[in-house]
Amino acid sequence: MFVAFRVAAGDARRVFDGVRAAGIGGLAVTMPHKAAACALVDELTPEADALGAVNCVVNREGTLVGHNTDGDGLLRALASDGVGVAGERFVVLGAGGAARSVIAALGRAGAEVIVVNRSAEKAEAAAALGGPQCSVGSLDDIEKASRLVNATSVGMGGDGIPVPVEMLGPPQIVIDLVYHPVDTPLLRAARECGARAIDGVGMLVHQGARAFELWTGVDAPVEAMNAAARAALATRS
Ligand code: NAP
Repeated sequence: MFVAFRVAAGDARRVFDGVRAAGIGGLAVTMPHKAAACALVDELTPEADALGAVNCVVNREGTLVGHNTDGDGLLRALASDGVGVAGERFVVLGAGGAARSVIAALGRAGAEVIVVNRSAEKAEAAAALGGPQCSVGSLDDIEKASRLVNATSVGMGGDGIPVPVEMLGPPQIVIDLVYHPVDTPLLRAARECGARAIDGVGMLVHQGARAFELWTGVDAPVEAMNAAARAALATRS
């Protein structure tokens, strides 16, 4: 059984205590608790430790282990869409929680990553997670990249495009992590310019699939999860 609870900022400790006391198998953790969860688990995976963010907790016989499945979620989504990563040049827009997880994962998977963010200091810190082939750049780098990932919140709620549209075009692949709305202004502009557009639902589903596997030890029903996520998002205004 998987149940959603709304937990106020600052109340996460009480939930973690409850998980221990009741022997609950695990937790999916979302904003604003991802950073706080690092201090509330007993162990962190290297990824979660480096990112300073936990989105999945596994209760291993009383030991709470904090994982971060967001980056693997993107890699799995790209693999399932046949999008190559190793040796490709990615521009990642943003340096917040989502950006940090995908920068680290893309770097691990052998991509060259250029981080572009409004706040330069945050861009430097995020780029440090992507390994030796990762650097900080500017919007001008988009035209030299084969892949563009929007990991900013621009486009949430249906407003705004985070880049000048004249920088979009084939053979670029544009991936928007924003999934509400599913078809963002950036993705529409990318398609209109002839670029391939990939929405954020794939990453959302695959990070959940990875968590499902960590909790249960069995393969996740990815197709059913994808259909359920898309049906649920279609009903959101
Ligand atoms: P966050 O930590 O708040 O980071 C937001 C990022 O967006 C920061 O880099 C911020 O720049 C940038 N930004 C915000 N407004 C901007 C603007 N007007 N112009 C330029 N940059 C702007 O948020 P997050 O958790 O990383 O989430 C970002 C997006 O990814 C959200 O839409 C979220 O829903 C989505 N997401 C999707 C998945 C998925 O599975 N598909 C998973 C996680 C998150 P500064 O650093 O300069 O403030």
